[in-house]
Amino acid sequence: MSESAKQCPVCKLANQKVLSERDYDDKVTYDCSRCGRYTISRTAEVIAQSKDISAQLSGWLRERNLLGIEIPMLTSTFLKEVVTTLPSYSPLEKQNKLLKAIELLTDYPGREVVLIPEHAVSLAWAQNENELKYYLKSLMDRGLLEIANADRRTLSDPLYPMVITAKGWEHLETDKSNFASKSQAFVAMSFDNELSPVYKNAIEPAIEATGYRPYRVDSTPHLDRIDAKIIAEIRNSRFVVADVTQQKSGVYYEAGFAYGLGLPVIWCVRKDDLQNVHFDTRQYNHIVWSSESELREKLEDFILATIGKKAT
Ligand SMILES: [Zn+2]
Repeated sequence: MSESAKQCPVCKLANQKVLSERDYDDKVTYDCSRCGRYTISRTAEVIAQSKDISAQLSGWLRERNLLGIEIPMLTSTFLKEVVTTLPSYSPLEKQNKLLKAIELLTDYPGREVVLIPEHAVSLAWAQNENELKYYLKSLMDRGLLEIANADRRTLSDPLYPMVITAKGWEHLETDKSNFASKSQAFVAMSFDNELSPVYKNAIEPAIEATGYRPYRVDSTPHLDRIDAKIIAEIRNSRFVVADVTQQKSGVYYEAGFAYGLGLPVIWCVRKDDLQNVHFDTRQYNHIVWSSESELREKLEDFILATIGKKAT
């Protein structure tokens, strides 16, 4: 294994460590100060360079590195999939992610975490240091974070030594948007009897194989109505599988609600119904399936690639 330095193709930081690269290899492993460690194929490197996905992809890589979730090799197919699956986080969600990341970097409460702005940008899924600084300032204004030894330091220092306040710890404990720890996967699909075996033989086992617990609303008393129970179960989930076969409005509603919460939504559709997929969501990548076994396999692979196996 050779060791050298190159620009990170994802976040464009110069001089990042290259852990393995051989002339005849079709992949490169980077250890980037902003993104963390990941392996990318040569063709995907070109895509990562040319598309403006660096902030989201860098935030995603860093979060997984921090949480110790396995990162699949970044191939060009995978990059295209991940781009349509990653949610755009709101400023409030980015603040929560930043606070959560600082929690993960904290050895013990009261201990300061020294952030190097250039490297910490990804902790907030931010575009640049200005955006990061804005969220740090917001968390400080909310009383959740403070500068260690504030009498001597400010956010204009080259390093930010941050410490989570008592109120910050309390916030972390009650933060409902901290869904990374959730183990449920919400399944939105038609209740038609024709599709029941699809749930039993494909969707349920695929989700279980990745360590998550599938949740599907039982049978049909409410038909297409969305009740409080459904909303609560979506809020309590890590991600949503939306199979739009038969084009039920309830499925679109649930998926849209989840998307608004910042949850990843995995779209699926049976091949013969693909042409009927609603215009507004056609832009999203769908898992197109013809048989239960095909859906089971593709869905499991897709969850592993984009969400990752649930750590037990
Ligand atoms: Zn990077």
